[in-house]
Amino acid sequence: MSYFKENIDRMDGYVPGSQPIGDVIKLNTNENPYPPAPGVLEAFSRVTAESLQRYPDPCCTELSAKYAEIVGVDPERVMVGNGSDNLIVMISRICGSPVVAPSPTFPYYQTQAEIEGVDYIEIPMGERFSVPVDGLINAGGAVTFLACPNSPTGTSATEEELDTLASGLAGKGLLVIDEAYVDFAERDSLGVLDRHDNVIILRTLSKGFSLAGLRLGFAVAAPEILKAMDKAREIYNVGSIQQKLAMAALDDLEHKDENARRVIASRESLAASLRKCGWDVIDSDANFVFASPPDGNGSAMHEQLKEKGIYVRYFNHPGLESFLRITVGTEDQNRALLDVAEMVSGT
Ligand SMILES: *Cc1c(COP(=O)(O)O)cnc(C)c1O
Repeated sequence: MSYFKENIDRMDGYVPGSQPIGDVIKLNTNENPYPPAPGVLEAFSRVTAESLQRYPDPCCTELSAKYAEIVGVDPERVMVGNGSDNLIVMISRICGSPVVAPSPTFPYYQTQAEIEGVDYIEIPMGERFSVPVDGLINAGGAVTFLACPNSPTGTSATEEELDTLASGLAGKGLLVIDEAYVDFAERDSLGVLDRHDNVIILRTLSKGFSLAGLRLGFAVAAPEILKAMDKAREIYNVGSIQQKLAMAALDDLEHKDENARRVIASRESLAASLRKCGWDVIDSDANFVFASPPDGNGSAMHEQLKEKGIYVRYFNHPGLESFLRITVGTEDQNRALLDVAEMVSGT
């Protein structure tokens, strides 16, 4: 006998990348290698006892207004979450069955579908991880999740593909464009949002803003969609410290952009160096590369790197065994990784 719902007993649960402690080179969970804007810690030092004594603003009024201004939409079109994970939870709570996403992608969409006890349909990506537009539309999701840029592949849908998806799903389901990595990409999907009323864009401060520990995400969507999500929101989902620090982070977009430029430059040189060592590297729009070592043995390379204290992400899934997802680190960290790659390939 079990105390739990059948679907909970059946599911595995999300397994986060490991957070090893100590002196390791951590290139496994796509954190930003550079620190957040200095204003964020200054804001932290101004936190008062009184502000902690009170409940936070449940609606994050100031913060949503500020973010709305930055992305150029009305404040009713922004909702704040305790990380974008929290917004994925709300969406999964309010939408029905099935939940649809391409494969491979961020596994948390599936985790949430399983918790809700709804069907999850994954549509395999095409050649070089292209977006399976027709398959996604034909699956008829009550909600379709598309990470753009995608993890773990680093690939992006084109604006045309996103428009086709949004129109194809209109009247039947929502399209969630998860832009966790948008700060490292050439374009965003705000134009797509303008043209369709069934689209939600998710953003986060975890990657581009170097604030994975803060837990702060945004949903940008039509007010009717956000009103429905709001029904499924925990009452005080974002603490007052989070709200204050996020305000400070948004005050210094130049800091975020400068870090993103460094990461993008490092990404391109890391990809080029790996290719020189015979690796197959997928073109990336994100702060990581998805790449396969010369012998196609991702697992062995993963172990070899770990022995040198370098953590990257290996996915033991059919079709992904030859690949590793490597977060772009500092120049020194990338150099350490390349030393191993060069040693192995004898270059
Ligand atoms: C990292 C990541 C997230 C999680 O963002 P948080 O704001 O830290 O919850 C969401 N989606 C994708 C695709 C990610 O890679």
